Amino acid sequence: MKNRNYNKTIWTVKEVLKWTTDYLKDKGCQSPRLDAELLLAHALKTNRLGLYLIFDQPLSDRERMIYRELVRRRASREPVAFLVGKKEFWSLDIMVRPGVLVPRPETEILLEVVLEECKKSPGCTLLEVGCGSGAVICALFSEVPDIDAYACDISMDALQNTGANLALLNGLESPSIFASDLFESVRNGPIFDIIVSNPPYIPSNFIHQLEPEVRVFEPKRALDGGPEGLDIIRRLAQTSRNFLKPEGKLIIEIGDEQSEEVSDLFTTNGFVAVKQYNDLNQKTRVLKGII
Ligand code: GLN
Repeated sequence: MKNRNYNKTIWTVKEVLKWTTDYLKDKGCQSPRLDAELLLAHALKTNRLGLYLIFDQPLSDRERMIYRELVRRRASREPVAFLVGKKEFWSLDIMVRPGVLVPRPETEILLEVVLEECKKSPGCTLLEVGCGSGAVICALFSEVPDIDAYACDISMDALQNTGANLALLNGLESPSIFASDLFESVRNGPIFDIIVSNPPYIPSNFIHQLEPEVRVFEPKRALDGGPEGLDIIRRLAQTSRNFLKPEGKLIIEIGDEQSEEVSDLFTTNGFVAVKQYNDLNQKTRVLKGII
């Protein structure tokens, strides 16, 4: 009798991953294997290591159905983080919903710099302007829970997302979050030791060149920094001093071609000892100034 299964692929974890990797690569995804693993792990309610423990097991029909839908959406370039509802940042699983920026690895540089400052002045008062997903304030709070931390954002999606992530951390004295367009809802006065921000800094006419994951699916308001990308950074440099204590620090993430202009903005607005912090490619991604 003819074997009807002859030549028919058995969709094991291994085969599924192999097929999806090629497929997503074809669709222009930058890290197709990683994407395939993250999506399959999500569909099978396990993690990436877990997949390798069941590498030769076939998927059930139901699992294949769930996974197929995830792959379909990924192929149209929806970010993996939105499909699985989370992104790893500073070894934390940060929940992300559409409407907030997905945490980026380069923002860990910002976190390192701020963390160093917080450790130097235990119990300091800190404000994060534009908390987005909440990745930065959550990572900070997980490391230095003794700080008196506040976070604001103009976007309700962002505040909800940050609130949900903070709730997951289970802290007793969780940072306070509030709605504000930069400092609009903050009382003038020397309140903070540290102001931190990862503001929108991409020049407007550059947005259309970004990958579809960013351009189509992420909030433009969290990315678009106006004609030169410096609109929000300029406002931060001009107004932060009204809210910083003497010797207070402004620490922000910037675009990789902006360090000269932003250093100038810091100095012309009274900041001293402006320091640059580079990524592994020797591009300046974070600036710190003291008032
Ligand atoms: N680093 C982000 C990107 O290149 C931009 C984040 C931001 O504008 N703050 O997509």
